[in-house]
Amino acid sequence: MGVQPTELKLSEDGRLKIAWSDGQVRLFTIRQLRDHCPCATCREKRDAPSPPPGQLNVISMAEAQPLRITGMKPVGNYAYGIDFSDGHNTGIYTLELLRELGEEALPPT
Ligand SMILES: [Zn+2]
Repeated sequence: MGVQPTELKLSEDGRLKIAWSDGQVRLFTIRQLRDHCPCATCREKRDAPSPPPGQLNVISMAEAQPLRITGMKPVGNYAYGIDFSDGHNTGIYTLELLRELGEEALPPT
């Protein structure tokens, strides 16, 4: 895949904004990125059967806080590692995954 991010930044509304070399701009909510974390632990969690209705999930203090990205670092030239404010940082987000997530931001008119 030849498309590369040209700019990464956190927008004022708390979303991650990535501009790509083909001119596309995508916006990601932090929650969506976290929910699609591709690490083995999160994949297992997502594949596990959901709890029966009526059973409340225990939410830890960290999860109750608004989720933020505290750091982002390139992994090779094909992916990014993202540090989340809940302490999770083992997910490696490939550029392909980032192109699938989020929504395309239309250029301002
Ligand atoms: Zn994960």
